[in-house]
Amino acid sequence: MRQPLVAGNWKMNGSRASIEMLLNGLKSGIGAVRVAEVAVCAPAIYLSDVQSRLQGTAIAWGGQDLSAQASGAFTGEIAASMLNDFGCKYVIVGHSERRAYHHESDATVAKKFAAARAAGLIPILCVGETLEEREQGVTEAVVKRQLDAVIELEGVTALADGVVAYEPVWAIGTGRTATPEQAQEVHAYLRARVASQDADVAAGLRILYGGSMKPDNAKELLAKADIDGGLIGGASLKAEDFLGICTAAND
Ligand code: PEP
Repeated sequence: MRQPLVAGNWKMNGSRASIEMLLNGLKSGIGAVRVAEVAVCAPAIYLSDVQSRLQGTAIAWGGQDLSAQASGAFTGEIAASMLNDFGCKYVIVGHSERRAYHHESDATVAKKFAAARAAGLIPILCVGETLEEREQGVTEAVVKRQLDAVIELEGVTALADGVVAYEPVWAIGTGRTATPEQAQEVHAYLRARVASQDADVAAGLRILYGGSMKPDNAKELLAKADIDGGLIGGASLKAEDFLGICTAAND
C-alpha cells in the first residue's frame, strides 16, 4: 500500500512574514490529516525558518532544486549537503519551470536526482508534456524520455528512493487541470514503464499529480488507482486550501 504524499511547491512566492503566517496555519490544521504524508518545498533562503517552525510536527520540508555538483565554484547554487544541513527530507528536481527557464536537460535532471539520492534526500522527479506535445500525441514519448534519463543513469532501483510527479505543463498555474482520466492514463503508463523493468519498484513508486490541483478537484484525482498524491503550486500558498487537499487524500 502506497502512502499518499501531498507536497507543496511555494516557488518564488512569499516573504518572511507571510511564510510565518502560512506555517502557523499549517501547524494548527495538520492534526486532522491522518493518512497522507505532507511536505512543503520552500525557497532556499527560508529553509532555516521552515525548519525551526516545522521541527517536531507531522509536516516535512524540502528544497525546490539543487545542484548536480557536491560543492565548489558554482556561484548561486545549493548543494544537497546544504539542504541536509537544514533538515530537508525532499527536493524537487526537473520542475518544468527549471527545464524551460534554466534549460535543464533530461541528463542534468538525472544528475540532480542522483545527487539528491546520494545525500539521502528524496528527489521528487517532475515529468510532463507541453500543450503542443499533447496535441501532437507524443505525451507518452516525452514522459518516457524524462523518466528513462534517470533509469539510464542510476538504474531502475534508484526510483525506489524517489517520487515521480506527473505535471502536464499546460495544467501548471493555468487553472486548467487534467481530467482524472487523462492523469490516470499517464500515471498508469509511467508505472507500467517502470514495471517492465522492476515490478516491485513500480508497485511501491509514488506518482503524484501536479497541475492546478485544488481542494475541489483533489478528491476525484486522488481516487484514481495510480495517483498517489499531489504536487501543489498555487493552492499550497494558502493553509486552508493546502490542508483541504491533504484532507482529500485521507478519503
Ligand atoms: C507546480 O508548479 O508544481 C504546480 C503544480 O503548480 P499549480 O498547482 O499552481 O498548477
